[in-house]
Amino acid sequence: MTISTVGIIGAGTMGNGIAQACAVVGIDVVMVDVSDAAVQRGLATVSGSLDRLIKREKISTADKDAALARIQGSTSYDDLKRAQIVIEAATENYELKLKILKQVDELVGPEVLIASNTSSISITKLAAATSRADRFIGMHFFNPVPMMALVEIIRGLQTSDATHDAVKQLSERLGKSPITVKNAPGFVVNRILVPMINEAFFVLAEGLATPEDIDAGMKLGCNQPIGPLALADMIGLDVCLAVMEVYLTEFGDSKYRPCPLLKEYVAAGRLGRKSGRGVYSY
Ligand code: NAD
Repeated sequence: MTISTVGIIGAGTMGNGIAQACAVVGIDVVMVDVSDAAVQRGLATVSGSLDRLIKREKISTADKDAALARIQGSTSYDDLKRAQIVIEAATENYELKLKILKQVDELVGPEVLIASNTSSISITKLAAATSRADRFIGMHFFNPVPMMALVEIIRGLQTSDATHDAVKQLSERLGKSPITVKNAPGFVVNRILVPMINEAFFVLAEGLATPEDIDAGMKLGCNQPIGPLALADMIGLDVCLAVMEVYLTEFGDSKYRPCPLLKEYVAAGRLGRKSGRGVYSY
């Protein structure tokens, strides 16, 4: 299958990042959001991001203009009909995604692939809401999409080999290095990452070391670019807590119990960078 046009649902952080990644390698994009304001914000973000690439002499002004010309912003799902694959990157809400995916499934041709960029919802479950579980897949990009090399490709129970292979090829065309993962809570990266962050909170709570020394330990000893506590502040402590709660429920294994100190910080409103204070103050 040749993919010349990608449909994207959601022009937010991830949607506009995916749009940029497609447009800079010459793929046409239709990016749909609920309001014109949201679409325009998404397009402006892509423009600003391309400007930064020009400043760093990675692309020319002509490259920027060509990339922007490939992205059609829209508030009409009908415009998705010309895409060979639709990537859903709307707000992380199960009911909302279900509604969106049913709508897209009824609208686009039977050969069109549908992917979701969900971080936490079961791909198998989302696929079952459509009439094409074999042509449904998870395409989990990382933030910021234009910079991050990874795409986790998540196969639902019924995803076909042909769908997997087409999405793997598309990811490689975007300059990404995809990994293939079976559907399970957290997939692979977040399944390992978030419990590591949770463990860092246990270490902090037990008074084994200062936050600075815990982060320095993981940076210098494990070559991590950022320590787990500073990373938690970036992700949002509330998000980390919610993810641990999902793992605890889904796996039914006490090894995923959230650290009480993490819960305390969230209860206190210390959510990380976004609230001005988490483990560290900003
Ligand atoms: P966001 O809030 O920045 O953007 C979501 C966009 O979806 C908004 O612009 C919203 O208006 C739009 N939207 C809501 N309902 C819609 C509808 N019915 N039709 C079309 N658009 C609609 O969120 P985000 O951070 O871009 O996250 C999007 C998805 O990507 C989520 O599933 C999230 O879990 C996943 N994800 C996020 C990250 C991250 O770091 N932000 C990383 C990987 C995956």
